[in-house]
Amino acid sequence: MQAKDAQGVLIAGAGPCGMVAAAALASQGIPVTVFEAQSELPIDLRASTFHPPTLDLLDRFPGVTADLIRQGLIARTWQYRDRIAGPVATWDLGLLSADTNHPYRLQAEQWRLTRIFAERLRTWPQARVLFGHEVTGASQSADEARLNVRTPEGERVFSGAWAIGADGANSAVRRSLGIPFDGITLPELYLTLSTTFDFARHLPELTYVNYVADPEEWLVLLRVSAAWRVLFPTRPGESRDEVLADANVQRRLRAVAASDTPYDVVHKTLYHVHERVAPDYRRGRVLLAGDAAHINNPLGGMGMNGGIHDAFNLAEKLGQVWRGEAGPALLDRYTRQRRKVAIDFVQANALRNREALRETDPALRKQRQDDMRRMAGDPVQARQFLLRSSMIAALREAESVA
Ligand SMILES: Cc1cc2nc3c(=O)[nH]c(=O)nc-3n(C[C@H](O)[C@H](O)[C@H](O)COP(=O)(O)OP(=O)(O)OC[C@H]3O[C@@H](n4cnc5c(N)ncnc54)[C@H](O)[C@@H]3O)c2cc1C
Repeated sequence: MQAKDAQGVLIAGAGPCGMVAAAALASQGIPVTVFEAQSELPIDLRASTFHPPTLDLLDRFPGVTADLIRQGLIARTWQYRDRIAGPVATWDLGLLSADTNHPYRLQAEQWRLTRIFAERLRTWPQARVLFGHEVTGASQSADEARLNVRTPEGERVFSGAWAIGADGANSAVRRSLGIPFDGITLPELYLTLSTTFDFARHLPELTYVNYVADPEEWLVLLRVSAAWRVLFPTRPGESRDEVLADANVQRRLRAVAASDTPYDVVHKTLYHVHERVAPDYRRGRVLLAGDAAHINNPLGGMGMNGGIHDAFNLAEKLGQVWRGEAGPALLDRYTRQRRKVAIDFVQANALRNREALRETDPALRKQRQDDMRRMAGDPVQARQFLLRSSMIAALREAESVA
């Protein structure tokens, strides 16, 4: 093991959070090295929704938002439905036109964003992305941060002024620092299926983003450019083999919309869902961001968006510290601001959505749906709702945290 070149900021993970942090630091002239365990950028079939303020933030890099928009689908409305009764409330993001330059959700997969940034970073001399470099731990002294990295040439230690763990939910950086990941794992697994079947031709008034409530089996129906994605909960105790068996997959899909021919299923994933937030996002010269710091259920599409917001917040503060405009204590404000958002907005919203979708009490379900219908029909109330569900309120509130 040998010590290697002291570089500015070391970043573990080339996911959306790590890549945005790298670009936001490098654009301030700060040297960055990103270490990615995989041999190339993962094609993750996870996040597929970019919220308005994320598109606004990404616009700071000329052409990035435009590139993403070219590759995605603009959802000017999204819908809350009941599986039996159909549309309950349609939310019109146009009500946010005074609050954002992008009053819509953009349906585009997260790997499209990391690819856009990888292309750009390749041409910047102050940035490098090293693939096949797995971070195995972090350590530090008073004036440098170090990452232990398993490289194709063997184990190496890289040092820099600061390090960021953006290495996802199982973060090796977080674990090596001994930072706990408090929270719960939901009892049920979630199943995501992608199909070329055109649900819009079978379900009236479908939008590109639809949350469908049902006491037996709720679901989320999302459109991306090449397919529809359907997310279902599974029943606790259902085995992986049972859930993934073709007959069960076809049965679940046929119950959404009848089809004479078998559904063309192009992708399926079954995964555990966690609600966890680290108690601190900073240990000296090492910081956590994105899923490494907080993780939540995907109902509301806030995990990646929140991680990107972390990256912008952290890069701005690290830039100030780097240039000597502020002391390192400024970085503790990063934890205070972003941890509050993770708990009060992202987690609270994701849990509220889960409860609404799976409500079993008919009277409560009716009450919730009546409330939602009324709110969506009143422009003032609808705007307030959309400010929260689009994460604009979270960013505004974070600014008020000292
Ligand atoms: C089905 C599903 C749907 C979702 N939909 C949405 C949505 O619509 N909107 C939304 O905002 N969020 C959504 N999310 C959440 C979103 O996918 C995550 O929040 C997001 O990927 C987090 O980004 P990240 O960069 O922090 O971590 P990751 O995307 O996990 O990236 C971490 C990167 O680090 C690399 N890595 C891991 N360990 C190491 C290591 N030891 N050394 C070096 N590299 C390492 C990984 O290979 C990866 O490239 C969804 C999640 C799921 C499961």
